Amino acid sequence: MIETKILPVSDLEKDRESIERAAAILREGGLVAIPTETVYGLAANALSPESVQKIFVAKGRPQDNPLIVHISQICELLPLVERVPPKAQKLMEHFWPGPLTMIFPKSEKVPLVTTGGLDTVAVRMPSHPVAQAIIQAAGVPLAAPSANLSGRPSTTTAQHCIHDLSGRVDAIVAADDCQVGLESTVVSMVCDPPKILRPGAVTREEMEEVIGPVDLDRAVTAQLEEGAVAASPGMKYKHYAPKAHVVIVEGDLEQYARFVNSQERPGVYGLVFQGEKEFLEKPCLEFGAMDDPAQQAHWLFAALREMDELGASEVYVRCPSKAGVGLAVYNRLLRAAAFEVITL
Ligand code: AMP
Ligand code: MG
Repeated sequence: MIETKILPVSDLEKDRESIERAAAILREGGLVAIPTETVYGLAANALSPESVQKIFVAKGRPQDNPLIVHISQICELLPLVERVPPKAQKLMEHFWPGPLTMIFPKSEKVPLVTTGGLDTVAVRMPSHPVAQAIIQAAGVPLAAPSANLSGRPSTTTAQHCIHDLSGRVDAIVAADDCQVGLESTVVSMVCDPPKILRPGAVTREEMEEVIGPVDLDRAVTAQLEEGAVAASPGMKYKHYAPKAHVVIVEGDLEQYARFVNSQERPGVYGLVFQGEKEFLEKPCLEFGAMDDPAQQAHWLFAALREMDELGASEVYVRCPSKAGVGLAVYNRLLRAAAFEVITL
């Protein structure tokens, strides 16, 4: 157990001391959980193998699961990569800073422990002003996976970070709740057309408007066959899961309600869209309006965590739409459910 400092930031100027403290810990090789617009990230100096190694230990993360390197200005990208393809340049101009991670051939500067042994590196420029201020003050790029214990839902509030990481990291920068609520879109720029390995708030359609066709990796919506190599190593693990057994239920509201209401075991919960509670005879939580995937994204992980607090043992989830940002919500739910989908 190490002592974890809580560094509050509600106002960038007034709380400058917290930013400087976080940056100093990072420069000295420590671990700091920081807010971003997607989810909270567990940051370390991306160029120091010893510091990055601590992330894997603190999270209990498999060593072959690569980390995203966070920068605060475009000029910080060049030393990390071998080259920047023209399409990446265009995506950067449109979507950075923001929830888009791009994969490039890595330079010698990036240690293999950061990339999970791969010869490519994932880079993102977050838009959250606190994340930007910390990267700038630290003066080094920051490797930062989601700030949760490996396998659990990612953390979208300071309180969730404190719950998962107290005693395991040097500091937690406690700011507001994350606006997006799901991890960034990950797109590989080492192939042409570029390929989405993980969907997020920046959608395929939005990217296609800027650079033309973009592929979608099969693993986004399908389970990998035994022994297959994952383009995105993180996608092969059971992920984002509460303690309860999660099942996605495809069907209309009436079918869903009849199905869940007929489950007679104790600990059965529903996870439904806004306004649907009254149709269920079982306890349930809502995770956003049916036609508002951005709202579902914002609430999903908090709702999955709340299921644990409530002691749910089985959670039946209304199936979200798979269009636009909905694809990202569906992708996370599929992994939380270990691909268990019931179609009514
Ligand atoms: P997290 O930081 O927890 O959101 O996880 C980052 C995810 O980004 C990993 O689980 C991978 O799926 C993906 N990723 C990071 N770097 C690479 C890379 N070089 N190649 C492919 N996928 C990557
Ligand atoms: Mg993660």
